[in-house]
Amino acid sequence: MNVVPTFAAARDSAAGRVGLVPTMGFLHEGHLSLLEALRPQCDTLVMSLFVNPLQFGPTEDLSRYPRDLERDVTLAASAGADVVFAPDVDEMYPEPPATSVSVADLAFRLDGERRPGHFKGVATVVAKLLAGIQPDIAAFGRKDAQQLAIIRRLVADLSFPTTVVGCPIVREMDGLALSSRNTYLSGDERDAAVALSRGLMAAADAVAEGERDSRALEALALGVMASTDGVEPDYAELASQHDVSRLTELDRSAFLAVAARVGPTRLIDNVHFDWDAGAFGADRGIRLTAPSVLYTVSEEV
Ligand code: AMP
Repeated sequence: MNVVPTFAAARDSAAGRVGLVPTMGFLHEGHLSLLEALRPQCDTLVMSLFVNPLQFGPTEDLSRYPRDLERDVTLAASAGADVVFAPDVDEMYPEPPATSVSVADLAFRLDGERRPGHFKGVATVVAKLLAGIQPDIAAFGRKDAQQLAIIRRLVADLSFPTTVVGCPIVREMDGLALSSRNTYLSGDERDAAVALSRGLMAAADAVAEGERDSRALEALALGVMASTDGVEPDYAELASQHDVSRLTELDRSAFLAVAARVGPTRLIDNVHFDWDAGAFGADRGIRLTAPSVLYTVSEEV
């Protein structure tokens, strides 16, 4: 496997049908599942590792964000990556970019409302990765449901010739969605954090029993979070998968998104409801059968 620091070298190492998995590193099985999803569909599988300063607000955790290149390279290779593209900030942004990508409406709801500029930073770096690597196919996680909708829209609007694939959320054995930020949680916070997924699963159960009212579904998720010590819910909202607009009832493909603070750490999670063959299927994600690799450092990988 090649580890390359420049766009030019990444393109030089890619042949045939190219797949791309963009990440900010500190890999876990959620990231690796994206590699596994693309592996059979491409000749060269590229994973990018870049902690993108543009998507962090001034009070957010840019300098603290976990980084371990050696660990990431080992894990990416084990999941079938051919190339790891690990640029530094100067390669990605030789000058502060004068051009940015702003996806109207979709990017101003939910997390976009709470994290001004966040999705502009995400859309800009993803556009650069798609232009710089020129992948035929790229995979993104449903964990970041709003981000996935925004990326689908930017790819369509700007005519990138890349197929976007959305992949299920990978969860710890108890349901907690994997996130590099879970490494910030203390033991008690880690236990409390499962309230996000418990609330979502309660809402998914209600949908299976016929509930369609968004307020009822949101209240179920909020109720579980609010009644858990140490969890401060931010929102629960049912949104369209297509344009992230708030739905009053579940009447099309949607996701129920939640955000909460657990101690100082902000976590997000969701469950997707896919309208297919006249019924709503809940995508509850994939549960690991052992604790994730998140808690291992490079020497142990
Ligand atoms: P990040 O490194 O957090 O920017 O995430 C990189 C990619 O991995 C994004 O497409 C995320 O949606 C995806 N991802 C992160 N966590 C998970 C998870 N638990 N399950 C599936 N995909 C995930």
